[in-house]
Order: sequence, then structure tokens, then C-alpha cells
Amino acid sequence: MDETTIAKGNRRVVAVDGPAGAGKGAVCRGAASRFGLAYLETGALYRAVGLISLRSGIGNPDALTRAAGEMPFAFRPVGGGEYAAFLGDEEVTLALRAEEVGQAGSRVAAMPGVRRALLGFQRRYGQDRDTILDGRDVGSVVWPDADLKIFLTASLEERAKRRALELQARGETVIVENLIARMLERDQRDAERDHAPMCAAPGAILVDTTSLTLAQSREKVNNLIAALFA
Ligand code: C5P
Repeated sequence: MDETTIAKGNRRVVAVDGPAGAGKGAVCRGAASRFGLAYLETGALYRAVGLISLRSGIGNPDALTRAAGEMPFAFRPVGGGEYAAFLGDEEVTLALRAEEVGQAGSRVAAMPGVRRALLGFQRRYGQDRDTILDGRDVGSVVWPDADLKIFLTASLEERAKRRALELQARGETVIVENLIARMLERDQRDAERDHAPMCAAPGAILVDTTSLTLAQSREKVNNLIAALFA
């Protein structure tokens, strides 16, 4: 079956898009455990291809498209609303979170072949369960017929501050100015690329989390989902 014709069927799909560091992952994990949804962090797929590219030194779009289509990627719940990412038998959850892997993910994400190769996985994910997915083009390309579309954002400074805390908690040394510059570079590449650029899809509800705590951001999104499921 052509990936683009995989039907949504009766399940409900929530699409959450937005820039790096807006809190998509934490908000979606909260919603997934609150409402019993399947959750896919679609960025992990691009990061996995980025990791393969960094490790192998392959930069050619055709070779990376093949690698994206063949990679043995799996995303498994490990309890408590948390998920682990695997490439074959290797757990790559932490490796995928590295800043350089995010950058590599953003570079491969500009390649149309790579995007096409990852589409089927995203559309099949969750099978017939209600599903929440986060990314950059979920509401515009992956599930244009999603039941609820949210564009989650926050100011660049706030997003960089959050990412810095996350990296510091993992023992990484962070220079916030460098982080801001790299985030800006990634945002621009994601928003300006020709294929499936990051955007608020038509009909998406804008949620700005700049002055919200994580608990408040979760509550806002959970209220939107609760209204959908009522
Ligand atoms: O969301 P995350 O920061 O993990 O995504 C890593 C990169 O993957 C993004 O910078 C973006 O270029 C790409 N991506 C994408 N489309 C998605 C999800 C992520 O292009 N749906």
C-alpha cells in the first residue's frame, strides 16, 4: 500500500507540531498517559537517520534514503509514560537526544527521499489505537486529517533555557549563547526547507508556552484533548 493512502480509520489522531524545545515531548507524554494514547515522537526517526549518517559518514541523499527505509527502528513504551528508542538491539534513546544528533537529524530531514521513506512508519504507528504524534509536519503532511492539530511554541530564549537545563541535568556543559545560535539555525532550516517545512497546519490551535510551566502547558493541551474526546 502506498504510505500516503494508509487510512486513519476510526481512531482519533492528535497532531502536535512546533519548534525544538517548545515542550512537545513532555506535553505529549503527559497526554498519552492521561488518555491512554499511543505516542510517537516523529523527530526520533529523523534523529535516528542523523545518527546513522554521523556514525557511517554517509551524507549522500540516495544512500540516506535507503538507510531510512531499511533501518530497524522501534519505539517502545517502558512504563511511566516514558519510551525507549531502538535501532535493532541497540537502545539509542540517549544517543538520539544529543545536540549534534538533532542537528544531523535536521540536515537529513531536508532530504525529500528520507521524508518519504519515514512516512509509512508514522502513518502505521499506533495501528487502530488513538494516537498522538509530535513533530514539524504532522498536521500538514503526515496526518492532514488529524482530529486535533496543535502548534506548540515558545520564545527562542525560553526554549534555549529549557534545553540548557535538560542538557545540564545530563551532565553536559552548556553555553546558552551557543545553544541559542544552534537552535535558531535549526529552526530556520526546518521552517525554510522546500519539503514539508515546519508550520502551523491549517486549523491548528496555537499554544504559546513561553510563560507557562510544564504543568500548565500539559493542562492546556489535555483540556483540548478532553474536549475532543468528550
Ligand atoms: O523534534 P526533534 O528536535 O527531535 O527533531 C529533530 C529534527 O527532525 C528537527 O530539527 C527536524 O528537522 C526534523 N523533523 C522533521 N519533521 C518531523 C519531526 C522532526 O523534519 N515531523
